[in-house]
Amino acid sequence: TQRILLASRPAGLPTAAQFQFDSQELPAPAAGQVLLKTRYVSVDPYMRGRMSAAKSYVAPYEVGQPIAGGVVAEVVESQNPALPVGQVVVGNLPWQQYILSDGQGLNPVPADQAPLSYFLGLLGMPGLTAYFGLLDICQPKPGETVVVSGAAGAVGMIVGQLAKIQGARVIGTAGSDEKVAYLKQLGFDEAINYKTADLPAALAAAAPQGVDCYFDNVGGAITDAVYDLLNKHARITLCGQISTYNATETPVGPRPEGKLLKTSTRLQGFIVNDYLSRWPEGVKQLTEWYVQGKLQGEETITEGFDQIPAAFLGLFKGENTGKAIVKVA
Ligand code: NDP
Repeated sequence: TQRILLASRPAGLPTAAQFQFDSQELPAPAAGQVLLKTRYVSVDPYMRGRMSAAKSYVAPYEVGQPIAGGVVAEVVESQNPALPVGQVVVGNLPWQQYILSDGQGLNPVPADQAPLSYFLGLLGMPGLTAYFGLLDICQPKPGETVVVSGAAGAVGMIVGQLAKIQGARVIGTAGSDEKVAYLKQLGFDEAINYKTADLPAALAAAAPQGVDCYFDNVGGAITDAVYDLLNKHARITLCGQISTYNATETPVGPRPEGKLLKTSTRLQGFIVNDYLSRWPEGVKQLTEWYVQGKLQGEETITEGFDQIPAAFLGLFKGENTGKAIVKVA
């Protein structure tokens, strides 16, 4: 089987040199094991953090070992009665075309509910990130103004839709005019191209009543501009900081503490894994809204196992709209 190993740790923006392809013979499954065929691979910004040695909320990848993440796979050989041939599963699995597994940590995917890849996006980790991060922490009320950065990405596009379901006014920032048009079509009240707009002025114009909730996916200058518009008792979900993930020096910027203080803002760092015990509740509600047509999943699908590194690197160039997925088989 083909697999992709971490060849070396990146300094700054990763390149193709960080990824090493090799092949390996797999034995037939032993008692209790299954052979999985990888169908869809998720590429996610958090993987950049795991490529570095720095301590974080998930352990770093090891140099010389396979990179791993969210994968949808199908059982093609089985010595495990709980996982028959043909069963589709989702799990945290290595970047390999075929995988030997003892079944630990694999969750069956209901094949008739939604496209299988949605269990890596709308009905998977990014969907739950949006769900708990917005509804538990920001708790937007009808008529409030919600800003989401990285709005056209996997998490952001769901945050915006969920905020609309709550009756809020929703503003998104994204990196191209195509993404801005997409967000408007999705039901966002306002969308701003942060690469071309005068951001502070555009945000102030889009949020004449100020900002009650900010779902922060990117950090940096976008966040600085949002902090100037916070209303009294604003809530901020600190979900991601992708604008700094490849920084080689500590990013510096305005000191926002005074703005948070004066507005009694509640800022909360958020890791979706903190909500593991409530995942079933989140998946149930997201699925219900999806089935009712209240939530849409959008994906950018790249084809081919050999394209996984390129799809991952594309996240840092904004190549994806919605969830970035690689279709392997
Ligand atoms: P996305 O699908 O949003 O992909 C990344 C997007 O980030 C790109 O498409 C690009 O869009 C944007 N981007 C890249 N570089 C920059 C930059 N320098 N400045 C601004 N935007 C940039 O990824 P996800 O939805 O999966 O993740 C979004 C964020 O949420 C990430 O920060 C991620 O780490 C975080 N996250 C956190 C979780 C948690 O538990 N805390 C769980 C899941 C995700 P554009 O064209 O707009 O630039």
